[in-house]
Amino acid sequence: MLIILKKLQQISSLFSVSSFESEPILQFRLEMFKRIIFVCIACIALFNFYFLYVGKYLTFAVLCIALVAYFACYYLAKLKSVKMGSALFLAASTGFTCFFMWRNEGLFDEAIIAFPGFLIFAVMISSFTLARWLLVFIIVNVLAIGLVNEYGIYTHPTNASDLDSAIVLSIMLIMVSASAYVAFVSIHRLLNNLSAENEKVKKSQREIFRLQNHDPLTGLPNRILAQQIFEERLKIGNREGFETSLLFIDLDNFKTINDTYGHATGDELLKAIAQRLQNSIRDTDTACRFGGDEFVVVAMHERNERFDHESALAEKLVKGLSETISIEHAQVSPTVSIGISVAPTDATSFEELYKKADLAMYAAKESGRNAYQYYSTEMQSNSARYLKIAQALRNALSNNEFELHYQSTQRLSDGKVMSAEALLRWHHPSIKDMYPDEFIPIAERSGRIQEIGAWVLSEAVKTCKSWHQNGFEDMSIAVNVSAIQFHRGNFAELVKTVLEENKLDGKYLTLELTESLLFDIKNKFSDTVSKLVKMGVKIAVDDFGTGYSNLGYLHKNDISILKIDRSFISKIHESSHDLALVESMIQMSKSLDMAIIAEGIETEESRDKLRNMACHYGQGYLWNKPMNAARFADFLKGN
Ligand code: C2E
Ligand code: MG
Ligand code: MG
Repeated sequence: MLIILKKLQQISSLFSVSSFESEPILQFRLEMFKRIIFVCIACIALFNFYFLYVGKYLTFAVLCIALVAYFACYYLAKLKSVKMGSALFLAASTGFTCFFMWRNEGLFDEAIIAFPGFLIFAVMISSFTLARWLLVFIIVNVLAIGLVNEYGIYTHPTNASDLDSAIVLSIMLIMVSASAYVAFVSIHRLLNNLSAENEKVKKSQREIFRLQNHDPLTGLPNRILAQQIFEERLKIGNREGFETSLLFIDLDNFKTINDTYGHATGDELLKAIAQRLQNSIRDTDTACRFGGDEFVVVAMHERNERFDHESALAEKLVKGLSETISIEHAQVSPTVSIGISVAPTDATSFEELYKKADLAMYAAKESGRNAYQYYSTEMQSNSARYLKIAQALRNALSNNEFELHYQSTQRLSDGKVMSAEALLRWHHPSIKDMYPDEFIPIAERSGRIQEIGAWVLSEAVKTCKSWHQNGFEDMSIAVNVSAIQFHRGNFAELVKTVLEENKLDGKYLTLELTESLLFDIKNKFSDTVSKLVKMGVKIAVDDFGTGYSNLGYLHKNDISILKIDRSFISKIHESSHDLALVESMIQMSKSLDMAIIAEGIETEESRDKLRNMACHYGQGYLWNKPMNAARFADFLKGN
């Protein structure tokens, strides 16, 4: 028997449609099928007790066969063969019902009330085709009984409504309604499951949307969503006469904060900034984060309201975002630069508008940071190369594109090489002819100078140490330092760490600062210089003579070297005025007890003239052009 059932199941799986059904539906049909068979088995068992009791043994025997058939159906259900199991169930049930109708009271037999139940079962659990065939079979059967009785071929007895009929009818009703109940419970459960599934799908769709469109750290919309929001606003704006602007917000010194306080603090700061941003904007504006320290606000305003709304907002943001934030043990004072571009005046595409806001943001940084700027067409003209360089600078350090070159400084009296100046070179794969005069100011404006300056310092000190190790123990190194390096971060601490790491005495390091920086003496600055001087580090005034005429700063004892700018040196032969200036600079250095270096000496004549004027040291192409570390080491050995 089991073998036959297994064979049947294999055959049924060949033409089964269940593989196209979703798992919950299949499960539902299976569950419902099992429950209905269970109900039927229980009811048939009840019938059997009754028929045994009243002594109807033939009926009892037929129903026993029906029971076996139902158990077989149950077994098929367990094997998950719904189609074959339900077909067997319907065949057995309809067959036995017809048998009882023919044998007993024909169309008045109680068994007939099972037919609607079988038809519903066929539709719900089996298939429409089977249900259709079943209906045809039942109608043919009913008609046949009718015809047989009509033509007197056989006349079914019709018993009066007695207790026997009532009991059979009651069990039949219990069987049909219990099956209907079971079917209802299963459908209910299925619907609940489906709606729970649906809810889960919706939830995960919402989560996917959130992840795809929001920045995970701050929860703000990301670039993708910002673009969608912008495009929607632009449409509304065009229709209703509004303008849409992008405010590109960049934290001025985020890199330093990250380096100084660590990334966890950096993340906290970004979250706090995001929160402040949200609190500062109107409901109709949207704050987004584009990654790193870049935020964008998409704002809408009436046409004539542009300067009122955006300027007020930008001012509010510049002030509000830069208030001191306490994060863990740190007190962080971030400042922001904001660039604003407006659609449709400046551009209508998001990308174009974003680029223009970015340009305006750089202009804001250029104007001294902690400020905002509207985009203007002039920014575009000289910006292409500027932007290219500013962007390339972002990865220059990590791509190892920087190199230091060294140019010697010699004592003019005997030509002895005393020190070397470290000069930065950038080998970018596509941007050609870039010298520090061009890229250093861009690095300063785009906030990259600190990391670059720190690299230069460390590399230069390391190289100086290597000269000492190779027997040139008197060699000093001069490193150019930007004003921003002094003003932001703890520069003195950085110098101390670099010297300690390389085990180099501070007296071998000279820091070259420009006059403008020295003139701009603020408390923090003098504090830093004093700390450096205490470490033995020498401070040189670079490009001396080109800056401020006020020389008050020279009274401070902190400065030990003056470097005469090469523009004077190159003209000492042709201009008596420049010669006089150089002479007075040399005199001044003597009276202030400072060493003096002439920059840009290209000829022997200039060298001799300067030596005769008692200039101590000289630097220039006469001796060497700046060269890389390996070549400079050879140069030292050759001296
Ligand atoms: P600087 O500190 O005054 O450096 C001297 C500049 O004059 C160097 O140009 C050097 O190559 C050039 N020079 C030296 N001798 C002669 C000569 O005989 N004739 C002529 N015509 N030029 C000579 P460079 O390397 O292009 O650097 C330009 C400026 O860029 C530097 O002026 C300095 O202010 C800045 N710079 C260079 N490296 C760094 C750096 O690592 N950090 C910072 N903050 N600034 C740097
Ligand atoms: Mg210099
Ligand atoms: Mg110079």
